[in-house]
Amino acid sequence: MRRLELISTLIIFTTRSMAWRSSGTSNKELVENLRNNHVFASQRAYDAMIAVDRGDFTRSDPYQDAPQRIGYNATISAPHMHAAALDYLQNHLVAGANALDVGSGSGYLTVCMAKMVGSTGTVVGIEHMGELVELSKKNIEKHHKEMLDSGNVILVEGDGRQGFAEKAPYNAIHVGAAAKGVPKALTDQLAEGGRMMIPVEGEDGNQEFMQIDKIDGKIEKKTVEHVIYVPLTSRDKQWSGHR
Ligand code: SAH
Repeated sequence: MRRLELISTLIIFTTRSMAWRSSGTSNKELVENLRNNHVFASQRAYDAMIAVDRGDFTRSDPYQDAPQRIGYNATISAPHMHAAALDYLQNHLVAGANALDVGSGSGYLTVCMAKMVGSTGTVVGIEHMGELVELSKKNIEKHHKEMLDSGNVILVEGDGRQGFAEKAPYNAIHVGAAAKGVPKALTDQLAEGGRMMIPVEGEDGNQEFMQIDKIDGKIEKKTVEHVIYVPLTSRDKQWSGHR
């Protein structure tokens, strides 16, 4: 048992330290480096990330494997975290699925999720900074305008801690900011058999990326990685500037 734990710790450590070495000079090179470094394995996640150019969603070093500032104290998360999230959700982001992206920020992951659920699926991106909702709309319009026109992607301004009840239940929920605990509204809005990936901050301030499954109406939680995300908070705490 000890030996197994040690081996799995080593694997996680190796994978995570390699994660930051996946930078490329183009979107394709970045995504291929992430796959070669075993950050993710899903072919469908690969296809989605190849089809969505991260350069449409941030102008600063888009192909570096690092988070970048997008204003309003928000970041576009690091590519290795986006890749990992899509990998954990691969069996839930299937054709026709209904998904929620909480803290959709730049809109990048919302579009990757929409690629995976296809034209018969829906992804709601909820973001509390109205300015970022507008920015994400502009980013998506560059190469994926049809997703907005068809309603395949829906962008909502609101407090993601409440989820988005109008379109619930969701087969997949991604939360892109760290919560102090798992918001009850989000577990309530998870469909039977659905999965949520959420960074959760413990009392010691450390964050864990949690996988939450709803199986036979029961919630099963598992920590999959240690992570660093910006907080899931109120608009005023995040940004004191006014519109
Ligand atoms: N996933 C996005 C953004 C990650 S940063 C991307 O990769 O581009 C986290 C985002 O969560 C920020 O845009 C921030 O504004 C948003 N956020 C934080 N608290 C929130 C809340 N309570 N409701 C909705 N969005 C929130």
